[in-house]
Amino acid sequence: MNVFCKDSRFSGIESFEEKLWLASPTMHGEEQKWINDAFQKNWITTAGENIDFIEAEIAKKIGRKHAVALSSGTAALHLAMRLAAEKIYGVPQVGHGALEGRKVFASDMTFDATVNPVSFESGELIFIDTETDSWNMDPVALRKAFEIYPDVKLIVIAHLYGTPGKMDEIREIADAHGALIIEDAAESFGSTFNGMQTGLFGDYGVISFNGNKIITGSSGGMFLCDDEEDAKKIRKWSTQSREDAPWYQHEELGYNYRMSNLIAGVVRGQLPYLEEHVALKRAIYERYAEGFKDLPVKMNPYLSGSKTNHWLSCITIDPEAMCETRRSDKSATYVSEPGKSCPTEILDALCAFGAEGRPIWKPMHMQPLYKNNSFVTVSGKDVGADIFARGLCLPSDVKMTAAQQDKVIEIVRRCFDR
Ligand SMILES: *Cc1c(COP(=O)(O)O)cnc(C)c1O
Repeated sequence: MNVFCKDSRFSGIESFEEKLWLASPTMHGEEQKWINDAFQKNWITTAGENIDFIEAEIAKKIGRKHAVALSSGTAALHLAMRLAAEKIYGVPQVGHGALEGRKVFASDMTFDATVNPVSFESGELIFIDTETDSWNMDPVALRKAFEIYPDVKLIVIAHLYGTPGKMDEIREIADAHGALIIEDAAESFGSTFNGMQTGLFGDYGVISFNGNKIITGSSGGMFLCDDEEDAKKIRKWSTQSREDAPWYQHEELGYNYRMSNLIAGVVRGQLPYLEEHVALKRAIYERYAEGFKDLPVKMNPYLSGSKTNHWLSCITIDPEAMCETRRSDKSATYVSEPGKSCPTEILDALCAFGAEGRPIWKPMHMQPLYKNNSFVTVSGKDVGADIFARGLCLPSDVKMTAAQQDKVIEIVRRCFDR
């Protein structure tokens, strides 16, 4: 028995029969066929037709010349980071990170996998605050960062919750400073900005097939680029950097980061359903927007020139409708107030009835791991902290029915009851 069941605001609401997820894998049957195909041909390894197929298909879909299938989006980000670092600063000695003594500008409000590869390579992260139009890296803050740190040559940027950031402005600023961009499109596969797919804007792009993404392989990721030598290098590094020799010959540091042909089979089976998933996610977003029209909340915004995949639907609560709330490093408390609510109360209420929401990704500059890193904001604001304080992600599973979503909407509404 949870407290919400005894709370008169929620009278008459029954729990979901089955747990309603934030975003869970949605299989269609073809995935099994391509796994079986790999079994039949005994390509149970990190090579095979499924891998070749998805590399070609995804490169074509995004408009890139090359795509390399890897074990995860994080692995793809790591190799992209090392490649970019070596291009800019040269090959490091063994035992040294490719970014040692170097600063890198990074999105602040993102999942830590976006930024950790900078640390893998011993670089120093400088976090750039978020804008309010798409919840991504603020070009104004980026411009300011270049004034403070004019020598920076590398930027890593994510498209949060599938929503494309201001890539035209960011590209212009990067070019003006001769900086390379690594574009983390892990959450935004299928989204476009000015008619171009995300993953196409960076010097290198990355997508992910983690279990909760818009399409999945259960795990897996992909590195995207246009230069054939770059693609070759990533293939080589991802398979332990073996030289062309009769024995194991090594001139460069290597990794075991290649995708399995079984995983690629799942991705291959999912690919034809990308657009369908995007359409379902969009419908979910619009249903929430309609359902919350008269509540003191706002949906996560997107830019007029963009078409987002609406991977996750999120809201922020208007400042005047926030009840008193306090967050420590690992827990949160709040004081329930008539007509007001807060992310923790809404998430607790959803959880009590069997639905999974999630707080906004906690900004990197607020993470104990990166507490000593610089954070560049526009004139004393902290947009990321504000969105984190007032925002949350709602159940956005493509299998969610309209009736289930209406109940989610009703639970959120009741949180604001008087
Ligand atoms: C999921 C995700 C990643 C990491 O992808 P994995 O395939 O899980 O390693 C990186 N960046 C962002 C923004 C993500 O959401």
